[in-house]
Amino acid sequence: MRSTHTAGRHWDGAPITPRRRRTLTVAHDSPSRLLRIAQPSHCRACGNRIDWHTTSGCHPIALHPTEVPAGLVPAEHRWHLASGIAHPSGDGSPWCRLSHLTLCPTRADTGTLPPALDDIRRRLALHTRRLTDAGILTPAQCRPQAEPHHDDPCTPPRPVVQLLYGRYIAAAPVEGLQCVAQTVRRTRCTHPVLAPGTTPGRWTLMPATPHRRSPRQPALPASDFAVYDLAHLTFSEQVRWRTQRCPTHAATPTAPDLALADWELFDPLLHRQFLTTRLPQDPRRRR
Ligand SMILES: [Zn+2]
Ligand SMILES: [Zn+2]
Repeated sequence: MRSTHTAGRHWDGAPITPRRRRTLTVAHDSPSRLLRIAQPSHCRACGNRIDWHTTSGCHPIALHPTEVPAGLVPAEHRWHLASGIAHPSGDGSPWCRLSHLTLCPTRADTGTLPPALDDIRRRLALHTRRLTDAGILTPAQCRPQAEPHHDDPCTPPRPVVQLLYGRYIAAAPVEGLQCVAQTVRRTRCTHPVLAPGTTPGRWTLMPATPHRRSPRQPALPASDFAVYDLAHLTFSEQVRWRTQRCPTHAATPTAPDLALADWELFDPLLHRQFLTTRLPQDPRRRR
C-alpha cells in the first residue's frame, strides 16, 4: 500500500503553512519591564501558590492566583490589575484579586474574613497540611535560619542597602544579587549585579531611621546598624542596582525582565531581625 502523503501537504491534501513563531516583547510604554506580569511562586510559610506583582509603590505584592467575586470581598481587601501593575482597590468589575496575606492559613488573625473567604483559607490550610505531612514543606518555626557567608559570620542574609535616597532590604546577600534581565537565549542572565570592574558600595554604620531624634523612633536594640551604602555611586549606577541588572543589560534597556527585583522598601520594625551592628567585610576583599 502506498502512502498518498506528499511533502508540504497535510493528509487531506491541504497545504502546510509554516507557523510563524511569535516572541513576547515588552511594549515601549509599559510601566513594567517584566515579560510576564505575574511571577509565580509559593508562599514560604504555607507552601500555597502565589503570584508576585509589581505595585505602584515599592513593595511587590503576593496575590492569590485566581480572581474571586468582588461581592464576597470587603472593599479594603480588594486588589485589581491594570497594565501589569497591582492596585489596592477594586476596579468596578464583579471580580477582584486578594492579597495572599489575607488568606494565608499561617496568619493568626482568623475570624475576620467573611465565611466565603474563610472557605478559601480552609482549602489552603488543607493543602498546607498535605504538604507538611508529605515532608515537602517544613513549617517556618522548624526551618534553620539563613546561614551567613561562610567566610564572614557578620554578613547579613538580607542586607539593608542605601541607594537613590532611600533604604531597601535585599532578598539575598549583596554578592548574590543576580541580574533579572532576559538574555538572547531567553533565559535569565546569570551575571551578578556586583560585577567585576564596577564600583562597590561601602558597609557603613548608620541610624536605622533617617530621623534619629524623632519621638516616633521605634525601640531598637542599638542606634546604628550596618548599611551597604551605594550613595557615592553615580545616579545611573544606582539605577542599575535598583533595577537589578548587570552592566551589559543596564546598557540594553530593551531587554525584558524575567523576575522581579529582590528589593523591598526597608522598614526598621518589619525587618528588625535582619539588622546587624557589626560591619561585614567588603565583598570584593573577601574573595
Ligand atoms: Zn501563605
Ligand atoms: Zn545581565
